[in-house]
Amino acid sequence: MPFEYDDQNIFAKILRGEIPNDTVLETEHSLAFRDIRPQAPIHVLVIPRGRYVSFDHFAQEASEAEIVDFVRAVGEVCRMAGVEADGFRLIANAGKHGVQDVPHLHVHILAGRSLGRMLSPA
Ligand code: 5GP
Repeated sequence: MPFEYDDQNIFAKILRGEIPNDTVLETEHSLAFRDIRPQAPIHVLVIPRGRYVSFDHFAQEASEAEIVDFVRAVGEVCRMAGVEADGFRLIANAGKHGVQDVPHLHVHILAGRSLGRMLSPA
């Protein structure tokens, strides 16, 4: 099934500068900004600038340059936030069962407190 990207999603609007964001890092192919409803003391979202719906879409269709840039951006935000010592969690929700609200690939970086077990009961 082909991936269908919605240009009106909120992160597309952020990338076009139509909605403000609290930027943490900008790179050639990626943008990192603070989540508007943080779930932990540190809650940053990293998104590719390209039109990718989900991690699997990105893995299939992004260029190597985009993939390298994105992975390095996630690592750089972790380094900037100083979370390596106490740890952090990365989450990339996808689709209905992943309860993805915004259909533009984003990795959540969560840190700053113990995050508990990975999953709570549905
Ligand atoms: P998802 O459920 O799709 O994995 O997560 C979407 C995330 O985007 C949520 O954590 C939500 O708080 C965040 N979010 C939604 N709208 C905005 C916005 O306009 N600005 C920012 N910075 N974050 C947003």
